[in-house]
Amino acid sequence: MGEMRAGLRRACLMGHPVAHSRSPMIHNYWCQQLGIAGVYELKDLTPEAFPAFARGLGTNGYVGGNVTVPHKEAAFRLANARDAAAEAVGAVNVLWAENGKLMGGNSDTHGFIANLDERAPGWKVPGCRAVVLGAGGAARSAVYMLRERGADVDIVNRTLPRAQELAGRFGARAHAMDALARLLATADVLVNCTSLGMAGKEALRIDLAPLKRSAVVYDVIYVPLETALLKAARERGHRTVDGLGMLLHQAGYGFRKWFGGSPQMTPELRALLEADIVAKTPK
Ligand code: NAP
Repeated sequence: MGEMRAGLRRACLMGHPVAHSRSPMIHNYWCQQLGIAGVYELKDLTPEAFPAFARGLGTNGYVGGNVTVPHKEAAFRLANARDAAAEAVGAVNVLWAENGKLMGGNSDTHGFIANLDERAPGWKVPGCRAVVLGAGGAARSAVYMLRERGADVDIVNRTLPRAQELAGRFGARAHAMDALARLLATADVLVNCTSLGMAGKEALRIDLAPLKRSAVVYDVIYVPLETALLKAARERGHRTVDGLGMLLHQAGYGFRKWFGGSPQMTPELRALLEADIVAKTPK
């Protein structure tokens, strides 16, 4: 059982690995700003250790927590009840206790779309066509929300069967990588949901030439803050959306469940995170 100071509410991020996470900066900033006696910690848990820890969150001293790679599907199965977004995407990234039950929610979905709404207002044009690169966890949230908003969605992924599974689930279309140039010509929104372009990973190499100038380019990656894709898009005059806002927008949901209050995404908080990312990302 973790040590618990009287009245101190504790939440944590459960994942493997977790050391890179900026979530403690966000939640601990809000606790301080709102005068809440709360703390948010990191819990590196192997897939073997995660289920017992999550089931015993309360006895481990936590009011709840976030769940990240590779435990989101396991958290979905462990939760006694789930919110509508979690049910739709089949993944849980927020856990909290309610009336003796372990509740599961999905805030990546909200984070994805709220960030797009904020950074590219008016993105949803009549007959909106979105191209989503990738078919992993981030793509699930993106495709679900884009479809909820009525966009026509094409999914392009290296492993075609994964794209087909996702497309079937949400009423989108699946394609192999060689379809990309053709799809870009009619896209209004292009979203990178692969891990390509992330610091330490291979670059994402795509030619944006076919893309309409009015198209919005969104990269869910936030390390680096401006990926090579976003830089190329900005230089071509596209509106661009980075992944940091998605992280910030998803965080409020869990915070309200665990600590209460009305956490705000202030420019100061975003600037703190930007500075941390810039300082710790290799050039
Ligand atoms: P994931 O489930 O592991 O999916 C990774 C995706 O990238 C898959 O579609 C995979 O294709 C593709 N991919 C990986 N390596 C590739 C390569 N060499 N060539 C082509 N495609 C490749 O990961 P995830 O959880 O969706 O995360 C994806 C990215 O989103 C990560 O960078 C993560 O940090 C970011 N993310 C950001 C937020 C946020 O709040 N901003 C939230 C969640 C995730 P295959 O299917 O062919 O393997």
